[in-house]
Amino acid sequence: MISERDCIKLIQRFASRIKSDYLVKGIGDDCAVITKDETNHQLLTTDTLVEGVHFNLKWHTPYLLGRKSAAVNLSDIAAMGGQPLACLLSVAFPEGVPSWFEDFMTGFSKVLKEHDTLLVGGDTVKGHRDIVITVTVIGEADKKNICYRSGAQPGDMVWVSGPLGNAAAGLSLCQKGLCNLSDPADKWQQLVKAHLDPVPLISLGKVLAESGIVKAMMDISDGLATDLAHLCTAGGVGAEIEQGLLPVSENLEQAAAELMTDAIEWIIKGGEDYELLFTAKSSDELKLRQHVAELTGREIYSIGRIIEGQGVFLCSKNERREISYQGYDHFHG
Ligand SMILES: [Mg+2]
Repeated sequence: MISERDCIKLIQRFASRIKSDYLVKGIGDDCAVITKDETNHQLLTTDTLVEGVHFNLKWHTPYLLGRKSAAVNLSDIAAMGGQPLACLLSVAFPEGVPSWFEDFMTGFSKVLKEHDTLLVGGDTVKGHRDIVITVTVIGEADKKNICYRSGAQPGDMVWVSGPLGNAAAGLSLCQKGLCNLSDPADKWQQLVKAHLDPVPLISLGKVLAESGIVKAMMDISDGLATDLAHLCTAGGVGAEIEQGLLPVSENLEQAAAELMTDAIEWIIKGGEDYELLFTAKSSDELKLRQHVAELTGREIYSIGRIIEGQGVFLCSKNERREISYQGYDHFHG
């Protein structure tokens, strides 16, 4: 058996033989980038959700599953600083189309509408054992603004757009049956919502890309340790993260205490946060903070810096340990 990363490398070996003016960026970023016209490039991304691996109908209501299926794909367009335009949806059901599919579609189309994206086609097939949902999104961005994973340089600051680990904590609470989904006052609402109903940061992605300050960007789908390692590998650099700078929600700390879990595991290894991870020159720190605050009202968090060499290191008072690619491998749990 080969790892997920080796599998991608294998596919890449075949794909990289295709040479054309049409292709700007193939495998290895959040989206493939292809030429559209003088000003704009097109962005293409696809993602598959498998029952039992990415979702569990015990706690994912069909409506929220629909929302999430759209959101996780739009997040990859956000990661390049683009605007999603159109979407294809394919579903495989093992025992025919269930009656709840209408609720799924309601949630799915609601998220598309929130981001001005059209559903334009897809496919429905009879599956074998589990439900499989595949979404493809086409987007667009001004070619001079697109943020790739590969632009990070030593000395850059590493930033994230929001607290990490909430989705992993939410999943853990769902698995342990410790949350009441129908109660909006449930004390774990913030964590469970992060897992069940992530928000694609389209506007923020555009603001960051259009700032001209951001050097490299991606979204965090597989956890900070893995995704920052991807960003570093793409740029031929390393990174040092300061544990004390990582943004953590109060709710997460509370959950870690109650479940007697180390919060740092959720924070660095937990996937599905769909926050944006990006780098910028350290001299642009204030400018970037102000730019984002003015245009979005949001706070962003600097968590470390890009270094020469390779590897992602987590630094605390007494320790510096490598965390590159730790976390979720889709083929090996
Ligand atoms: Mg991504």
